[in-house]
Parts: sequence; C-alpha cells; structure tokens
Amino acid sequence: MLLFKNMTAALTQMKLTHLPRIDSSLLSLAASRFPTLVTLELSCVERLDEHCCWLCFEESSTCCAHSPIPGVYATVDSLLSDFLKVLKPLERLETLFLGIFLSDADVLARHLERCAAVIMASPRTGYYPAPPFGPNKCAVCCAEHGVATRTRELRVKAAIAAAIPSIQSVGFSSWFPLGQ
Ligand SMILES: [Zn+2]
Ligand SMILES: [Zn+2]
Repeated sequence: MLLFKNMTAALTQMKLTHLPRIDSSLLSLAASRFPTLVTLELSCVERLDEHCCWLCFEESSTCCAHSPIPGVYATVDSLLSDFLKVLKPLERLETLFLGIFLSDADVLARHLERCAAVIMASPRTGYYPAPPFGPNKCAVCCAEHGVATRTRELRVKAAIAAAIPSIQSVGFSSWFPLGQ
C-alpha cells in the first residue's frame, strides 16, 4: 500500500475506513511496518450504501469484501488463525476494530434475494420501503442468524483477546449486535 510509505514507523494509531477488503496481507503489512500500534481500526462496511434504495444497497454490497467468510476465508477458524498469525508483531495493541462481518456472506445474499422481495411486495410496508435495508432490520434474518452470529463473534473476540496479552478491546462489525 503506497499510503503506508510516508508514515512514521512509530505510529501508534491507525484508522482507515471505506477499504475494499481486509485480509491478512493488509493486516500483515500494517503490523510489520508499525509494530508500536496501540490502536488499529480498519473498516470496509462504510462502502455499503444503506441510504438510498435496495438496488444501491445490493450494488454496493458487491464492491467490498464486507463478509470475507467463506469467499476470502473458507471458515471462521481459518480467518482466526490467519489474523492471529499476522497480528503477532503488535505487542502493544490495546484496541482492535475490524469493520467486516463475521457472519457468512450468504446472510446478506439471502436477505437480498429472499427478504427484499417479500418486503418490497408487502402491502404493509409499501412497495418501496424506506432505508435502512440491512439484515439487522429484518425479523426473519435476526431470528435465523442472530444467535449463531453472536456466538461466533464472541468466540473470535475471546480467541484474539487470549492471544494478544495487551489487548483491551476487540470489535467487529455485526448485522446482529447485542441489544438490537
Ligand atoms: Zn438507489
Ligand atoms: Zn432478511
């Protein structure tokens, strides 16, 4: 990444948003060039356009790797072991936030093809419902994926916290955050 070339190696905070993807090569580059990072926040999900219409939402979802499982990483365990390996140099890391969804890419794909059609056609919601359009606002998706997704997120966060002793806070983007 060209952007990193002019940055000081003693950087302690890195926050980047609107990334097309977050994978081990990006994390590895950040971790090896800036081993003193205390805060690392990288995010993709801003690329999702939830403010216009279903078509814009669907189209924007094809432009970033918002849900890298199973396309980029076959399983949550392969994502986890890869991330842990590349984050190892960050011995001072206290805050890690990765703006990707740990739920399968299928969660959004199914929501778009199944739920969107139902909601759009429903006389109760009107032909063209107002935003937002995410699975987090969808009773069907929340019932189907909420618990499993939160269990998966907790497992990943716990594993990262256990592997990086300095860590105080680990976060990911989620369609199904607690309390929603
Ligand atoms: Zn639109
Ligand atoms: Zn849905």
